[in-house]
Amino acid sequence: MAIERPLVVLLVEDDDAIREITSMILEGAGHEVHAVPNGDAAEKWLETGKADVLFTDVRMPGRVTGEVLAQRHADMPVLVTSGEAREQHGWLKEGMGYLPKPYDRRALLAALEQVAA
Ligand SMILES: [Mg+2]
Repeated sequence: MAIERPLVVLLVEDDDAIREITSMILEGAGHEVHAVPNGDAAEKWLETGKADVLFTDVRMPGRVTGEVLAQRHADMPVLVTSGEAREQHGWLKEGMGYLPKPYDRRALLAALEQVAA
């Protein structure tokens, strides 16, 4: 699958293995990835950084959960992921993308293109 355009992605994921494989997939597809392990680090990065898409896990340690992070930055394209069904996250706004875990390369890249479009 060819990407339409390279995106700057802020990846927020506390699971080291998932964060690493997701970074590899996104970078392999030509995207620029800034990977952080929790919402607090994401907030810090967003103070000076600018991303095209915020891709965040829901359940993470720290003060800023993925839910808080996504809602705070709902003005930018947001893609949310977790192990539950989308219906279990009633707080998700209509424009937000949702990618259930486990996801593969194809599903990840398709979901990213969709929220960034
Ligand atoms: Mg998590």
